[in-house]
Amino acid sequence: MPERIYRGRFAPSPSGPLHFGSLVAAVGSYLDARSQGGEWLVRMEDVDTPRNVPGAAEDILATLEAFGFEWDGPVLWQSRRHAAYGEALARLQAAGLAYGCACSRKEIADSASRPAIDGGLAYPGTCRHGLPVGRSVRAWRLRVGDDETAFTDRLQGRLVQQLERDVGDFVLLRADGLFAYQLAVTVDDEFQGITDIVRGADLLASTPRQIWLQRCLGFAEPRYAHLPVASNAAGEKLSKQTLAPALDPTQAAAELVRALRFLGQPAPDALAQALVAEVWAWAREHWRFAAIPRRASIPLAIPG
Ligand code: GLU
Repeated sequence: MPERIYRGRFAPSPSGPLHFGSLVAAVGSYLDARSQGGEWLVRMEDVDTPRNVPGAAEDILATLEAFGFEWDGPVLWQSRRHAAYGEALARLQAAGLAYGCACSRKEIADSASRPAIDGGLAYPGTCRHGLPVGRSVRAWRLRVGDDETAFTDRLQGRLVQQLERDVGDFVLLRADGLFAYQLAVTVDDEFQGITDIVRGADLLASTPRQIWLQRCLGFAEPRYAHLPVASNAAGEKLSKQTLAPALDPTQAAAELVRALRFLGQPAPDALAQALVAEVWAWAREHWRFAAIPRRASIPLAIPG
């Protein structure tokens, strides 16, 4: 067996600038990769085109650079990967695993479906055995099973979902013609040979869907570590929706120190005034994965 080469990634969506929450995910995945002699790739998750903000992708890359991140190889842009997603969908269709669905959002809501595990509604399977007469395909869904899909997260422990109950058959190609995040992320993680996914715990609940897809497509299963997400005083995840401020590249050292501490790494005060390269030198020497809090969310002491 060839030696396993660690390959990690950071996969921001360009729906706005990077904020402290995204920095934590970037720092966690970067240091986990580098501490294991691994590669670290950047992927721009711009598949959901209506949510892309003009200039945000370039701004994100410039911010990563100003913060001293060094990625391996060219950035992968999801907006240029439609052929690969289409091929994966075609394989699932040919295998009878994906099926066309005619349901509108309203019809799903009206069909008394159960709440899904991460918000929304579990798809009740209306079109599973064929489209109702006279209806046409709006979206393509993946058939899921009623057995358990489980994995052990390096930080959050074991997670078990019964996808049919907890999520329902989920969308691969949306009614607006766009490929769904679940399909794009799974195809790209395999394409880039990602061995280790380190990202925010807000994505924990969608991981069993990605594992299910990997199994359907015969892909390798990466290891996962879901970092605690930063929340505001109201317990909401820092995000564009909760108006988290954009990272300020002139404060890179101080922000990096703050992200390191958030991840349980006791970066000394003086580093906040040091050069970015000095912060990274400290971080690479002292990084301890075991010190990361094994929590899904941590409120920020200072409003982020
Ligand atoms: N693009 C996703 C986001 O910005 C992250 C996806 C991932 O890391 O798997 O939330």
